[in-house]
Amino acid sequence: MNSEKSLSWEFLKNVAETLDSFRIRALIDGKDDILKAGIYSEDQYYALYFEMFDLEKLKYELLTFLKNKSKSNFKDLKTFTSIKRIDLKTILFLLTLLKNEKLVSIEELNEQIDPDDEKLSTTKLTDYFITVNDNVTGKTIYEPVQVIFDAKICSGCGMCAGICPVNCIEIINGFGKVNDDVCIRCGLCYYVCPRTSLPTTSMQMIQMHTNEIEDYGQLGTYLEIFSAQTKIKDIKNVCQDGGITSSCLYYLFNSKQIDLALGATMSEDPWRPKPFLLGSTEDVISSAGTKYVNNPNLSLLNDKSLLDGNFAIVGVPCQMQALLKSKLCRLQLEYKYRIGIFCMESFSYDGFLKICNLVDANVGDVIKTDINKGKFFIYTNTGNEFSVPIKEITHLARPDCEVCYDLTSEFADISIGSIGSPSGWNTVIIRTPEGKKLYNELITNDIIESVNYDNVKPGLSLLQKIARSKKVKCQKHLDEKRKENLRFPSY
Ligand code: SF4
Ligand code: SF4
Ligand code: SF4
Repeated sequence: MNSEKSLSWEFLKNVAETLDSFRIRALIDGKDDILKAGIYSEDQYYALYFEMFDLEKLKYELLTFLKNKSKSNFKDLKTFTSIKRIDLKTILFLLTLLKNEKLVSIEELNEQIDPDDEKLSTTKLTDYFITVNDNVTGKTIYEPVQVIFDAKICSGCGMCAGICPVNCIEIINGFGKVNDDVCIRCGLCYYVCPRTSLPTTSMQMIQMHTNEIEDYGQLGTYLEIFSAQTKIKDIKNVCQDGGITSSCLYYLFNSKQIDLALGATMSEDPWRPKPFLLGSTEDVISSAGTKYVNNPNLSLLNDKSLLDGNFAIVGVPCQMQALLKSKLCRLQLEYKYRIGIFCMESFSYDGFLKICNLVDANVGDVIKTDINKGKFFIYTNTGNEFSVPIKEITHLARPDCEVCYDLTSEFADISIGSIGSPSGWNTVIIRTPEGKKLYNELITNDIIESVNYDNVKPGLSLLQKIARSKKVKCQKHLDEKRKENLRFPSY
């Protein structure tokens, strides 16, 4: 039962002291600052407090349970879930928190999978060995999210800025900064950041509505894959590839399923994107096209016009990760759809200007950019087409993208990209029942043309190969960071 319903506020304050949780203490001490900042209403503040309280209490109980055994395994975790009558994904999430807070050590046992398997899998998790670290009291030490910025592993997703209850994080040019004079040290930013730790197993369980641990291969959890292209002429004229992302938003606005969509548009500087709330099909058409410069979309989540939850979110894989992680953190963000786009890497604005310089293109003349067949293409309003091999500009990509393993937005409802489909078409991965419903409605309402992915060339094998290569590259960079004793995200 939720604590709110059964216990008094004074009593909760006392228990919070016992739990020795800096998160709960900061929320109590910072209540006036939070309400003054106006990001959270009083009701939202209490909802956040009580959800956080319940999770911290459960985490403390899990730690106490684990302390009573010299070594625990998966079976023990299952025992704890039945004692507490709580689902396994929540317990696995709390376990990743305990690990990230250096309270427990986890040794994973993996089984080799046939490398010829059609999903190109390599290992499957079969068990855990968990030990509580020496001299652990249960006290969690506050770490500022600034450590993620400083370690250059921040993806610039914008989530920390979007949920900060006193609005003291700014993401400028893709890099974050905390205003320490305003920060109340609640740690919410660090808690929800996809680059501190990512409870991928729990997130897969949410996607698949299961309590079982499965290996989902190179593309993550999914239901079906198709190749598709838009039938909407206005979108066809401006889109890159199949125009399916724009078609989803176009349909959702027209069918009045959403009032807003959180995405990106261009700022006053040519090709520098900025987070944007789209409010109409006209906005969809005017902001169509892929942007390769990092954009912290999720920083707009604190916009009051999103309060009723009647909106969709378009973003890259790191943003889809942050959104689904926030569900496990019980942040109560309400929205209709997560529309993920494929992403190999992104550039800072300076990096993008350097690419334009390299190919001798004037950034003000650029009308379209594209990545295809290992090359970065730039098209200008003067009719020129410039290209440069990706491997010659990889050094200009954001350094944090090196530790990103996700090509296909594995934690979206529906993922859209060009890899695997012929020119003028999109590859569409349906991941959740919500994504399936949306895709079916696009077909029924004659918005898109859809073909079976089995009939598409180069199709699944290429998509899996490139997704795998991103995972392998990421693992190499994680291993290097581990060797050099540098901070790296825990996936
Ligand atoms: S990865 Fe996202 S949540 Fe984490 S620090 Fe960077 S912008 Fe904030
Ligand atoms: S910056 Fe982070 S720790 Fe500081 S108030 Fe905002 S969310 Fe809390
Ligand atoms: S490569 Fe990963 S971290 Fe970089 S922008 Fe794309 S999804 Fe985000």
